[in-house]
Amino acid sequence: MAEEHQQYRRIILMGPPGSGKGTQGAILSQKLGLHTYSAGELLREATQSGSREGLAIKKIIDKGNLVPAKYIVNRIKAKLMEPENLKGYILDGFPRTLQQAKVFERLQHKSFFKQNHLQVDLVLLLQVPDEYVLERILGRSSCATCGTLYHEKFKPTKVFGVCDVCGGKEFTKRADDTYETVVSRLRNYRSVTAPVIPYYEEKGLLVCVDGTGPIDVVSEKIRKIVGY
Ligand code: ADP
Ligand code: ZN
Repeated sequence: MAEEHQQYRRIILMGPPGSGKGTQGAILSQKLGLHTYSAGELLREATQSGSREGLAIKKIIDKGNLVPAKYIVNRIKAKLMEPENLKGYILDGFPRTLQQAKVFERLQHKSFFKQNHLQVDLVLLLQVPDEYVLERILGRSSCATCGTLYHEKFKPTKVFGVCDVCGGKEFTKRADDTYETVVSRLRNYRSVTAPVIPYYEEKGLLVCVDGTGPIDVVSEKIRKIVGY
């Protein structure tokens, strides 16, 4: 189990959909001056880049297939090796499968990762029961301009319909944030992602956080663990 007085800067955020990974990742990013990367975002970026690998990924996604772990880890590898990320990084919702965790583990044994101390030093698991998840996901939206996350009940804009951060007036909801998809994403999480938890527990990297309180209560708990 990780020590409280230590400082962690190579962090994986885990937890079911709607547990607050995006919300807490954004807070940590800001406080620590580190980037947060999510696999979904990196894949979208790759498909838009027009690179050879990007096109290969696009073909797989368009067919509705799962992108092989190798591609996702390659995207993450490229980001983590950028000079600005040598001081640390936050990964949101990656690894999503045990296979991804194992491919990522092999990468961490490469000399560049070892020499630059890029190995994961903390896996934070946000624990939130299913009842909370549904309410959180069905109420969430984000600013179409700057991406800031909101929730109609738990984190409304200060002025109705206006983004606190950029003043934008358009908000978007993720297409997969519907009741049916949330139920199936939760089921997927339990069967495919949850096995990653004991994997990191055995490595002594896992710390569990109760994610049910208000956003600032959860972020305070995380602050104490991460050490900033
Ligand atoms: P994830 O990235 O794990 O899917 P999000 O960070 O997007 O989860 O959070 C889902 C929704 O719940 C968002 O609308 C967010 O504003 C809201 N939310 C996040 N953390 C909390 C919290 N501690 N209490 C209440 N609502 C929260
Ligand atoms: Zn905005």
